[in-house]
Amino acid sequence: MNKTYKIMTFGCQMNENDSEKLSGMLKAMGYTPIEDERKAGVVIMNTCSVRENADVRVFGNLGAFKHYKEDNPGMVLAVCGCMMQQPAIVKQIKDQNPQVDIVFGTHNIHRFPELLANYLVSGKRTIEILDDDNGLVEDLPVDRRYPFKSYVSIMKGCNNFCSYCIVPYTRGREVSRPHTKILKEIENLAEDGCLEVMLLGQNVNSYGNDRTDQYHFPELLRDVNQIDGIKRIRFMTSHPKDLSDEVIDAIATSDKVCPSIHLAIQSGSSRILKLMNRRYNKEQIIELVQRIRNRIPDVAITTDIIVGFPGETEEDFQETIDVVQKCRFDSAFSFIYSKRSGTPAAAMESQISEAVKHERLNRLLDCLHDISKGQNAGYQDQDVTVLVEGKSKHNEKRLSGRTMSGKLVNFDGDMESIGSIVTVHIKQAKTFSLDGEAIES
Ligand code: SF4
Repeated sequence: MNKTYKIMTFGCQMNENDSEKLSGMLKAMGYTPIEDERKAGVVIMNTCSVRENADVRVFGNLGAFKHYKEDNPGMVLAVCGCMMQQPAIVKQIKDQNPQVDIVFGTHNIHRFPELLANYLVSGKRTIEILDDDNGLVEDLPVDRRYPFKSYVSIMKGCNNFCSYCIVPYTRGREVSRPHTKILKEIENLAEDGCLEVMLLGQNVNSYGNDRTDQYHFPELLRDVNQIDGIKRIRFMTSHPKDLSDEVIDAIATSDKVCPSIHLAIQSGSSRILKLMNRRYNKEQIIELVQRIRNRIPDVAITTDIIVGFPGETEEDFQETIDVVQKCRFDSAFSFIYSKRSGTPAAAMESQISEAVKHERLNRLLDCLHDISKGQNAGYQDQDVTVLVEGKSKHNEKRLSGRTMSGKLVNFDGDMESIGSIVTVHIKQAKTFSLDGEAIES
């Protein structure tokens, strides 16, 4: 029996974290990973449905497996992730993709070993999608990609229903993990040598709101900060409406919590923000960013921006540019709005033409890049601490890692330092990264 596997992951950190759990379960079942999906005994495609063209990509990939399975007939092909929470997609797989053997959703990844065993015994296609799991499953084995840093999921789901987003329909309502379980997981990671944790949730600022123990995100940050061995604590994503003074204060006063906040603003126009159902306005964003910068002077603030939301006028777009200039984001993920079937925004009138969306995106990028360059310039000739993550992507002889504030640093140093924290002198600050040299500390 071919006991190798390949997991193909699309989408966000939540999916990467789920894939690490699936990988952990497969390893616990005696499977080993393999690079070439065509030769694998088990292939799992972990899908994302945030963008419509992601669906097209997944179906394109699935099509190729019809041929791969002719050469590798024992292969088991499983598909999971957010796309599978949409009945129309599952129907399309059922009707048109007989090469898919197992289908499961976001609420039952813990059931994968049973679903696989069931398929292997019966040879019958297995489809199991749950609408909700009524909670969280703890203590799944996890196969971490890096020994020195790890994702830690603190909650799942989202209660916000932004009008363009499919996540609340595919991941369900917010469910926070008990803090005792999170802290135990991080203590175990620290004992394993992990230095950095990234606390994950669609909206980490509302952690604990669904529980009755009055334990929220600031308490969690402070308690994780006390764990010996952990040197850096990151978190994402922050919804501006829930980033309270208590959270800002916990970041400012906890030395291991990185001064790095990903604050997804999405637009700078109050009118568009209302249509997006984001529940804050332009003035509130500017005031919040100012408050954060006053309290955490060395903070790096990054954001997400959507251009070309239905009905966005040139004036609305200029409001976004104005907010970007006033807030001086360190960097931003900017996206062209793309329709997600099943969301309110997809049915809105005044969809914006592709040409206008692209033209606005280019103008936004020019503005963002100028600001990033200016923000990075502050690091010129400074010494920074860097968690060394590996070899530099562009030059195998150099190293790369991140500062506390999340800046990418490429530098000359000792290859043996991968996985540790070193001091680097910054010789050149660029738009997207910093360049430097490790120094003896
Ligand atoms: S906060 Fe809005 S954009 Fe983020 S996951 Fe929830 S609904 Fe989607």
